[in-house]
Formats: sequence, C-alpha cells, structure tokens
Amino acid sequence: MANKIGIYIHVPFCCSKCAYCDFYSGKGSESDFEQYTLMLKKRIQSLGSRVTEEVSSVYFGGGTPSILGSDRLASILSAVKKGFKVCDDAEITVEVNPDSGRNLDFSLMKSAGFNRLSIGMQSCVEDELKKLGRIHTTDDVTATVNRAQSAGFDNISLDLMMGIPMQTRDTLKKSIDFCAALKVKHISSYLLKIEKNTPFYAQKDLLNLPDEDAQADLYLFAVDYLDKLVYKQYEISNFSMPGFESRHNTLYWTCREYIGIGPSAHSFYHGERYFCNRNINDFYEDKTVSDGAGGDPSEYIMLALRLKRGLVFEEYQNRFGTPLPAQTVNKLKLFADAGYMELDGQHACFTPKGFLLSNSIISEIL
Ligand code: SF4
Repeated sequence: MANKIGIYIHVPFCCSKCAYCDFYSGKGSESDFEQYTLMLKKRIQSLGSRVTEEVSSVYFGGGTPSILGSDRLASILSAVKKGFKVCDDAEITVEVNPDSGRNLDFSLMKSAGFNRLSIGMQSCVEDELKKLGRIHTTDDVTATVNRAQSAGFDNISLDLMMGIPMQTRDTLKKSIDFCAALKVKHISSYLLKIEKNTPFYAQKDLLNLPDEDAQADLYLFAVDYLDKLVYKQYEISNFSMPGFESRHNTLYWTCREYIGIGPSAHSFYHGERYFCNRNINDFYEDKTVSDGAGGDPSEYIMLALRLKRGLVFEEYQNRFGTPLPAQTVNKLKLFADAGYMELDGQHACFTPKGFLLSNSIISEIL
C-alpha cells in the first residue's frame, strides 16, 4: 500500500509584522482573504484529483491562519476532506495567534475536524512580547487557550521563544510555568534566530541579545525543566506529554512525503522536492520550482538526528537496503566520545549539549 502523506497549507497573512520574522507573510484585507480562500480551495480540488495516497496529517501554518476566521478555515478543511483521502484519525492542526484566537469559533472548528491547535505565545512576560513586536498580551493567550479547551480541544501546543533580548532563566521559567499551568500537551521552544532582511537584523547590536553562552544556558535549562514538568523532549525544539508529539512535523523529520500548498510552501512528493516562490501571484498562477530529488541517505540522517530518538540503524538499513556506512559510524563514535551523542550499536542521538551544536556536528558527520 502507498505511504501516507501530509498536507501543509500556508496562509500568508498577519495583522502586523513581528520584528524578527522571516516567514512569507504580509497584511491583507477581507477581500484578499476571500480571494485566497477561493484559490486555495480550487488548488486543493485540482491536486486532490491527482493524488492517490491517504493523508495522515493536515497542517495550516503561516503567517497567521487564524486571521482567516473560523468559517473560512472550516470551508478550506472541508475542501481538503473532499479532495483528498484524509484518514479518519488524521491529525489536523491550525496555527492560531492569541489575539485573533479571541474571535475564533472553536466549537465550529472542532466540528469541522480540526483537532490540534498550535498557539504562538512566545513568552508570558509582557516586556518580552513588546520587544519581539508581538501584538498580543498574556491575557489573550489565557483567554484563547481556555476558550479552545472549553470547546473540546485537548491537544494544544504553545510556542515559546528563547534568547529574547534581556530574557533570563527566571523569565523563561515563568513562561514555562505559565504553559504548564494552562495544562497544554505540547510546547515548542525555539532559540531566536536573527534572520537577514528583518528589523532585528538591522538593530542586532543594540538589542541586548543574550550571547551564545547565555543562549546555551537558556536552552539547557529549558530542556531540563520541561522534562521535570512532564514535557519530554522528542526533537531539538519540541517537547510534549507522552503521545502528544506532533505527527505532522514528525513526518518531516522522518523524511516522509507531503504536499505544501501556498506561496513559500515546500513539497516532497514522489521523490521530488519542489516549492512555490514567496510570491502570492506565483501561487495564483500555479508556478512551482523544482528543488531536485529528495530523501537521499544524507538528508535522511540529517533529519533523523533532529529527533531525540535519533538515527535508528535498522530503519536506515530498511530504507536504503544497506547498513550505515562504517565511516559514518566512526564519526558518530567520535562525537559520542566527546559527550555530544549517545551511541549504542542500534542507534545514535544527540545529548542536550550536542543539540546545541547539531548543525555543525551534522555537517562533520555527512
Ligand atoms: S505572527 Fe508569526 S508569521 Fe506573523 S509576523 Fe509574527 S512571527 Fe511572523
């Protein structure tokens, strides 16, 4: 039987631009939202007629999908269910901004089939939110989570950011405690990355950003503290209660296939990687750009090592029909001896301090 795939839908609109953000998003009017919804549904219909695989997860990301409102989101999901063979138990996630979350009809979204929310909280410290240029408040987060839980959403993830200007262990702990008190099942905790072409990049020397050591300290503290609070690390930046790992994102990290719909969305389908440019007109004109073949051994190893469970040698052999090259195993051993990895003959995975250097270690290994 064919492998199951994921569907990613990009919504390129936000109320305003956060100072650190490099995602493809911009402001939009109600008529832009209408037009985009219509175009998404058309594209979903035409793609659906060509795709035979079952769909095990659907993810609405952005931008701010929740800006479209519950009715449009429900109608897009209905088009997905009509167009594709979506499994009955599929994980269906939508990203929600705490401010627009106040106006969503969560009961309607639940009945439409959404069963997971990912809420962009970032911090519960108002000063930190302001520094990031976020427009929501901590009260918005509480209100949105409470309303969603009352409507029956029990699978909720909150995003946290680490390395915010002036952030300390204490303020990070406060934000983690805040998430735990809301009883959410999943926390994504990312280190702030200063991307070129963002206002933060232009001001980076004036921002009082934590230096590399301070960032490492925040990360290691978060991994340890989240673990004590029952949020087990399963990927570099992702933590959950058992059984609540993101199935859609895990599909990326295990090198399985997915179709992305929308400007800037990437796809990996039938062995080929391709994407739509960061341009809404390219999406409207159905233009995509090839990114070559995907899923080779290097890519597989790189993605698998993002996961806490790491690279399982037997799974590698099942996928590629050959054992992991001895040269790769030897390099893994070097990093294990230095305390950056755990290696037991069956699998290799990063330790928390290894995760901090994972990009450079992976490029040494491959
Ligand atoms: S809400 Fe998210 S996608 Fe929109 S500008 Fe802020 S960080 Fe970027």
